[in-house]
Amino acid sequence: MAGNQGARAGARFQLHAIASKRGSVSLVGAGPGDPELLTVRALRRLQTADILLYDQLVSRAILDLAPPSVLRIDVGKRCAKHALPQAEINRLLVDFALQGKRVVRLKGGDPFIFGRGGEELEALARYGIPFEVVPGITAATGVAAYAGIPLTHRDHAHACIFVTGHLKDGTMNLDWPALARPRQTVVVYMGLLGLPLLCQQLILHGLPEATPAAVIQQGTTPEQRVVAATLATLPLEAFAAGIKPPTLIIVGEVVRLRARLEWFEPAGASAADTGHAITLPIRA
Ligand code: SAH
Repeated sequence: MAGNQGARAGARFQLHAIASKRGSVSLVGAGPGDPELLTVRALRRLQTADILLYDQLVSRAILDLAPPSVLRIDVGKRCAKHALPQAEINRLLVDFALQGKRVVRLKGGDPFIFGRGGEELEALARYGIPFEVVPGITAATGVAAYAGIPLTHRDHAHACIFVTGHLKDGTMNLDWPALARPRQTVVVYMGLLGLPLLCQQLILHGLPEATPAAVIQQGTTPEQRVVAATLATLPLEAFAAGIKPPTLIIVGEVVRLRARLEWFEPAGASAADTGHAITLPIRA
C-alpha cells in the first residue's frame, strides 16, 4: 500500500510537470556519501534528469549514477566562500525549469536538514514551478550508523538534538543549558572549527568532562575516520589525528557503545580512487 502511495505521489508530480508544459525541479537528498544509501526515488530522478545541480558534498560515485548525457553543474559551497551565491542558485533552478527542463537539485544528506532546501523551494513556488522533495539519509543518522553509535538507546539517551556548530564571528550561538542536559545525544553539524569551544561550553554548563564524544570524518565512505574520546580530550585528539571536514560530532553516553557496536571497516583511499561503490564487510 505504502509503496503504491509513494509511486502515485511520484507519478502525480511528473504528470503535473508535463501538464504545465514547464519543467520541474526535484529537490533530492543524496545521503551522507555511500552511493548505496540513495533512495530508490533519488536514483530514478538521477537517471531521468536533464540537468543536475549539485553541492560539494555529493560524491563523484553518486554523480556517476546519472547518464553521461545529463548536464552537471557544480553549485557547491566551499567553506565560507560560496561557489555560487544562494540567489544565483535559485535563479538557475527557476530558469532551467522555465525552459522545460527536468532539473534535479542534488544535496548532501537530507535537503531539509541544514540544507537550505526550504529557501530554494520558496523561489520555485513564487514562479509556480512544480517541485517535489525526495528526502535523503541525513548525516546524523547515516554517519552514526556507520560509526556504530546508536543515537538513542533506552539506557542512555531518550532524546537526540541536531545543531549546527558553524562559527559566526568566532562564536557559536547555541542554547548551552539545553544542550548540556543529561540523557540525551547532541549531534553537531559543521562543528570542527568550533570543537574546542563546543566541548568547553558543554563542560561549563554541567556535562561531566568524562562524557563520551566522537568526531567522524567523511562518514559512510571508504575514507571514514572516527576519533572517540571524552569532552575533555576530544579537541586535542581530533587535532592530533589530523581530522578534516566534513565531520560530524556526536556527544553523549551512546558514544561509549561504539566499542562494542563498531562494524564498518572503511576500505581505504584506494577503493575511493576507483570511484566505485564498495562492498561492506560484515563482522562475524
Ligand atoms: N543536508 C545535509 C547537511 C548539510 S550541512 C545532511 O542532511 O546531512 C554539511 C555538514 O553535514 C558537514 O559540514 C558535516 O557536518 C555534515 N556531513 C555531511 N556529510 C557528512 C559525512 N559523510 N561525514 C561527516 N559529516 C558529514
